[in-house]
Amino acid sequence: MSKNIIVQKYGGSSVANVERIKIVAQRILSTKNKNNQLVVVVSALGDTTDELEELAFGISKTPPEREMDMLMSTGEQISCALLAMAIKEQGHDAISLNGKQVGIKTDKSHTKARIKNINARRIHKALKENKIVIVAGYQGVTEEDDITTLGRGGSDLTAVALAYTLKAKVCEIYTDVKGIYTSDPRRVKTAKKIKTITFNEMLEMASLGAQVMQARSIEVARRFNIPIHVRSSFSKEEGTMIVKENPKLEDIAVRGVTSNKSEAKITIASVPDQSGIAAKIFDEISKAGVSVDIIVQNVSHSKLTDISFTVPKSDLSKAIIASKNVAKKIKAGDVTSTKNIARVSIVGSGMRSHQGIAATMFKTLANNKINIDMISTSEISISCIIADKHMDKAVKALHKSFKLGR
Ligand code: ADP
Ligand code: ASP
Ligand code: MG
Repeated sequence: MSKNIIVQKYGGSSVANVERIKIVAQRILSTKNKNNQLVVVVSALGDTTDELEELAFGISKTPPEREMDMLMSTGEQISCALLAMAIKEQGHDAISLNGKQVGIKTDKSHTKARIKNINARRIHKALKENKIVIVAGYQGVTEEDDITTLGRGGSDLTAVALAYTLKAKVCEIYTDVKGIYTSDPRRVKTAKKIKTITFNEMLEMASLGAQVMQARSIEVARRFNIPIHVRSSFSKEEGTMIVKENPKLEDIAVRGVTSNKSEAKITIASVPDQSGIAAKIFDEISKAGVSVDIIVQNVSHSKLTDISFTVPKSDLSKAIIASKNVAKKIKAGDVTSTKNIARVSIVGSGMRSHQGIAATMFKTLANNKINIDMISTSEISISCIIADKHMDKAVKALHKSFKLGR
């Protein structure tokens, strides 16, 4: 009988220290039987990646991206070696492999590289030798053998990409919560575990702030239809299945509430209200390498209008410089900015066929005296930009008014 390959991924908090690594090793061995082969992707111990980033920013405000990847990839190399040792200590053969050894080739976009292909020869060889293969997540190498990383949360992507390449029977993501919840269970105590969620909904939730899964990993899972089981590394309980379609979804309008503080807002005042002006502004900003998200243009009463837009907080300085340049060129007024904003969003495929969802969202925020600064919608989500100090209150209120809680 041919063996089934199972891909498992253990996140940073699951392997935060030596004790937890030993527990994960036990867990891995408890799922291993003679009819399956295990490939285990592992993230860096606890907060290692944040700590490495902090070291770099202690040296430079703009550390070279190639060197950043060289640095950040070391976290996963530590955890995969320790986990392989722990498994061997418990009596089973194992081998740790880093991104290069495992054959993950990427493009050259350091810190957010894309996987081009995976040559799984070495994995297959080790599996044939009855070894459990432990893979350092979040990394690959370019054609020139430069180390790259796959963006924060990128171990999820390593796991999904390996599950696809190895035609794995299951892709299990082990984390520190019991699955995907209606909202971040650490912030909203009444959040409920979701049994099944679609790729589209999970992608939307991840993009809008639910960091439990990396958004890019869900894009890949959706493209190749790789079902994912998200579950806890501390419990045997079934978690959440992320799948293509959920037949029961029709009745549920809103699946979850998410939030994030990753954006900042720029306003260009007194912009001449003429055709072609918006094109000039956003052309300049895009040339600065900044992607703009929500854009709001006020009604003009005097041939002058204000234009506000959001950009990633990390790109704010670049975006301000570009905005000031273009404001001068088009003879607009002042450029102002704020980082004190947050985005709260509701997500659900059922929204398409339910009326009154937006009205309920706006009413809920109004009843809580939370002012809406900007609004953005997609087919399966509605987001409001509000003052960041109200974020947690807004999330809890929305979670309650859409009856998502326990
Ligand atoms: P890992 O280290 O396992 O990759 P992450 O920190 O990346 O773990 O993701 C798990 C965390 O995601 C949880 O601890 C939880 O606080 C957070 N989270 C945010 N939104 C959600 C959600 N909707 N469902 C579950 N967890 C969520
Ligand atoms: N260690 C990396 C990060 O913290 C990758 C991951 O955890 O998935 O972003
Ligand atoms: Mg993660």
